[in-house]
Amino acid sequence: MSQLVVENLDVRHGLLQAVRGVSLTVHRGEVVALVGANGAGKTTLLRAIAGAHPPAGGRILLDGTEITALSAHRRVGMGIALVPEGRRLFTRMTVEENLLLARSARRRGPWGLDAVLAAFPNLAQRRQHLAGTLSGGEQQATAIGRALMTNPEILLLDEVSLGLSPLVVDIVYDQLRTLIEGGTTIVLVEQDLSRAMAVADRVACMLEGRIVLEGKSADLGRDAVTEAYFGLSRGNTAQGAAP
Ligand code: ATP
Repeated sequence: MSQLVVENLDVRHGLLQAVRGVSLTVHRGEVVALVGANGAGKTTLLRAIAGAHPPAGGRILLDGTEITALSAHRRVGMGIALVPEGRRLFTRMTVEENLLLARSARRRGPWGLDAVLAAFPNLAQRRQHLAGTLSGGEQQATAIGRALMTNPEILLLDEVSLGLSPLVVDIVYDQLRTLIEGGTTIVLVEQDLSRAMAVADRVACMLEGRIVLEGKSADLGRDAVTEAYFGLSRGNTAQGAAP
């Protein structure tokens, strides 16, 4: 069943239209990766789904209920949790305090402080440390743990690997895999195309605010995604390193 439906969504930053007529359906338990070059509109789309940025047009439905006009807080209560780019932790609060803050919007479910610390053993040792003193990987784990504390049905993850060493990214993805096996629906933004295609059931590639290619990871060739990523299939001559 479709859990999340985005219909013809437009999102603006002032005069700039960052998301243009995007439609996307995510099924329960699915992992969908949003890929695309810097500025393609991935973060803006995730933030609009989470209710952090109001759309200029289109609709968002969760389990068939329209949520387009609901506040971010109401959406958390309905099971949508965003792990924002840059993690946005309270750096002068401890790991435990950061996690407990998310309880205000807490839904019933398996995730609480003990469950999160058990799922992220690296955090258990650091629970009384200030978040600002943690390594990048520990901060990412705290940000994911904080989202889990709300017992989400859908986890929106922005730039999971940003600023982390490949080794630490492996650890974070191992932890995500546990969530995926537990049936959590995930929409993630990932710059690393190989990693995105390995973890996701489906990949949607954005270019200049639109989804220009979408399909099952197993069916899409890496070359096709790379072409869509750079807009080469549309005669665009964008240059850059392969993602
Ligand atoms: P990145 O990987 O760099 O985060 P992205 O695909 O997530 O890229 P967005 O961050 O959604 O893309 O940006 C889409 C467009 O909107 C870009 O042109 C960006 O410059 C612009 N934009 C993003 N945030 C703002 C903002 N707060 N104010 C004005 N323009 C913005």
